[in-house]
Amino acid sequence: MKAPLIKTNKLHQKITTLHEGRLGLLSNKTLTPSQNYGPPPTFHPRHIQTAQMSENFVAPGQQRYLRACMVCSIVMTFNRFRDEGCPNCEEFLHLQGSPDQIESCTSQVFEGLITLANPNRSWVAKWQRLDGYVRGMYATKVSGQLPDDVRTAIEEEYRIQYIPRDGSATEAD
Ligand SMILES: [Zn+2]
Repeated sequence: MKAPLIKTNKLHQKITTLHEGRLGLLSNKTLTPSQNYGPPPTFHPRHIQTAQMSENFVAPGQQRYLRACMVCSIVMTFNRFRDEGCPNCEEFLHLQGSPDQIESCTSQVFEGLITLANPNRSWVAKWQRLDGYVRGMYATKVSGQLPDDVRTAIEEEYRIQYIPRDGSATEAD
């Protein structure tokens, strides 16, 4: 009987702390209305710096080299794709160390950046078919489609159904 009681107390403490933290933030009178009700959060390098989410987020200054994976839509620098491959699709795309493969399977043309900190719990992730992927920055739309040979290979060898992210397949699912 003791154990659950302790747990409950700890949880209560935690909730109280959180609550107080939020109240503190809300009661901060120095915020002007425009700061309180600013535009909805959009991608900005500053957010990445403050959040300090290192792993799959792109540093300011690297953005002109960005490319989006045509399969999972993750957005990373060309160098990152070259050095590490796609964190979601490497098993079947083999981008690591292959500039040619990166050229044909990722795209420089993409739009609608979203940042996913917890893809497994995000409804946006589900809606964008991103659940199960790693944390990171993703595009809602990626121009271009996989070359036929790559597409055939992943569909036949890996039994993965490729759904293009260029907007042509929105009615398919
Ligand atoms: Zn990918």
